[in-house]
Amino acid sequence: MAGNWKMNLNHFEAIAHVQKLAFSLTDKDYAAVEVAVLTPFTDLRSVQTLVDGDKLKIKYGAQDVSRHAAGAYTGEVSAAMLAKLGCSYVVVGHSERRQHHAESDELVAAKAKAALGSGVSPIVCVGEGLDVRKAGGHVAYTLAQLDGSLAGLTAAQVEQSVIAYEPVWAIGTGEVATPADAQEVIGAIRVRLAESFGEQTAAKVRILYGGSVKGSNAAGIMAEADIDGALIGGASLDAEDFVRIVRYRD
Ligand code: PEP
Repeated sequence: MAGNWKMNLNHFEAIAHVQKLAFSLTDKDYAAVEVAVLTPFTDLRSVQTLVDGDKLKIKYGAQDVSRHAAGAYTGEVSAAMLAKLGCSYVVVGHSERRQHHAESDELVAAKAKAALGSGVSPIVCVGEGLDVRKAGGHVAYTLAQLDGSLAGLTAAQVEQSVIAYEPVWAIGTGEVATPADAQEVIGAIRVRLAESFGEQTAAKVRILYGGSVKGSNAAGIMAEADIDGALIGGASLDAEDFVRIVRYRD
């Protein structure tokens, strides 16, 4: 269960929020579910200090990474820098970056490759907009985006990656895809991964659903065969609801 904080919580608020999560989560929770927070860059050092100091089992990561290793790229943050901060994950290709920063599949694949090169697992986001969904092209659209966003990666690299299916029309809208909607596309993603990278890789890759997941709907989504977890935006800012999502089995 990965919480995407988006551009919320400064580094003081981040500490308070992670402390709240750590206070609620138990070893039983961590044994059942891997929990991660994906924070703004400015929070990472504080989160690292807290996690290391208190030996917390919460993982953390960033929401973007440069495709470049180092050098004259003002404003960018490299994968090696994230790795040095102890990041386990980085989101690449979130629909908000595809939309507001015109990120292409080619760029997303380059960012995923850069992350993997530093031992940080990319959470590669794909998903269709409302027009595509209404026209019934959601599976083909998402698979094409998946192909482009994983282009050039080896099967071993794909195994280290996480895929997040996030239909754009369900992100931050309160409009959650039905479990069957999510399973339809995520099942197709797993089949495509098997075709492109082999059955073994497809079975190992974790595929998340993202789009208005809350404590109240997480169990239904997680009951679907191919859904391994969730990428949670808005509800991840509410510590109580995020913990409810982690405890979706209860
Ligand atoms: C997200 O930002 O990845 C997301 C799924 O947001 P929300 O849960 O708010 O729809």
